[in-house]
Amino acid sequence: MKITSTQFVKGIRGTNDILYEEIPQVAFVGRSNVGKSSLINCLLNVKNSVKSGKKPGKTKEINFFRINNEFYFVDLPGYGYAKLPPDEREQIARMIQWYFLEEVFKRKVVLVLDIKVGPSAMDIETLRILREYNRDVLVVLNKVDVLNQKEKSAQIKNITEQIPGVEIIVCSSKTGEGGEQILEKISEFIRE
Ligand code: GDP
Repeated sequence: MKITSTQFVKGIRGTNDILYEEIPQVAFVGRSNVGKSSLINCLLNVKNSVKSGKKPGKTKEINFFRINNEFYFVDLPGYGYAKLPPDEREQIARMIQWYFLEEVFKRKVVLVLDIKVGPSAMDIETLRILREYNRDVLVVLNKVDVLNQKEKSAQIKNITEQIPGVEIIVCSSKTGEGGEQILEKISEFIRE
């Protein structure tokens, strides 16, 4: 799939008509600092469409980007950012859960993990909720560029054992590795 157009549409914090438009949504979720924003920017082949870098945890809205006039990339706030006050962390976790449970036209989920760190308790809980509600999930293991071949194989095995039965793609938003594979999967997702 080729991305030919990207347009930021809006950020939401609660119910909004955009959720129920008959346009597929591909939602990106993950712990703060796993490189979710960098990955979205890499897939869109743009530098700063999605805020990334210096201040993890700063995006507290659910941001909608219209892609190829065909579907939405939905950037969910990063969770588990330790420097946020507990009530704000709780609010973000609730907002993400609400988005997953809300019945929308069509929604697929990309869970982003840091390959070196693997799944946190919150990632495992997110997967449990998504499974319970039968949501299709792709797990991407980002930052593979920081590992050598041996470490990479060991981490893939380790993570697969912790979260069995989900499709996994290894990638790096720094080098672009795995980007095409992710876009192919997304293209399948929105056509299913
Ligand atoms: P987010 O909080 O999940 O949106 O994470 P960001 O996209 O802001 O990235 C967090 C940090 O990880 C930044 O310093 C990025 O430069 C870095 N980063 C993101 N993706 C990669 C990657 O694939 N490889 C490496 N080595 N660093 C990355």
